[in-house]
Amino acid sequence: MKVFEIAFWIAIVVEMIIRAPLNKKRKLEKMSERRVTTQEKILLFLLLVGMFVLPIIYSSSDWLSFADYTPPVWAGWLGVLLITAAVFVFWRSHADLGLNWSPSLEIREKHELITHGIYKAIRHPMYASQWLWVIAQPLLLQNWLAGFANLIIFALFYFLRVQAEEKMMQELFGDEYRDYMKKTGAVFPKIG
Ligand code: SAH
Repeated sequence: MKVFEIAFWIAIVVEMIIRAPLNKKRKLEKMSERRVTTQEKILLFLLLVGMFVLPIIYSSSDWLSFADYTPPVWAGWLGVLLITAAVFVFWRSHADLGLNWSPSLEIREKHELITHGIYKAIRHPMYASQWLWVIAQPLLLQNWLAGFANLIIFALFYFLRVQAEEKMMQELFGDEYRDYMKKTGAVFPKIG
């Protein structure tokens, strides 16, 4: 395994470690709103394919080797830098969102609108972290399928999810969320 491939798998393990305790605790929470459509389930499944299944096939067999490419070495190091930033933003957003986190569109009975920490600057730091990740992935896994599938799937997921999520948040938190939207950017901080 090459050093860049190893960096990718280390990042996956670190993200699993960050998420595991929260995932366990949130299962005990009572939910007051759940908006999980078939479209969302399909997209979450495709994300799993892009983030885990294709990379596992790439790293454990030569089935995908017909789609390999060789970028310059600096591209791999740029990938390491980007995935490190992705994991850092992922960790910060979990620390700030706490039990309000959910893999799908859900609101718990005790849901709080988080507007502090990294959420003070941007509304979707977890998705920002995922953008960094999907840009890093084709630099680390140098294969058209294992590298790029996740980028395409996530781009589609992002635009559909953010629309539905912000609609839900506005319906449930009203002006509080609308005011919050005025002060923040989606994945880049608002300038000025
Ligand atoms: N879009 C956010 C959160 C992703 S997790 C991010 O990228 O960081 C998805 C869940 O987070 C949704 O079910 C929603 O209930 C919750 N959520 C999103 N923004 C929130 C906020 N500012 N405060 C509390 N919960 C939030």
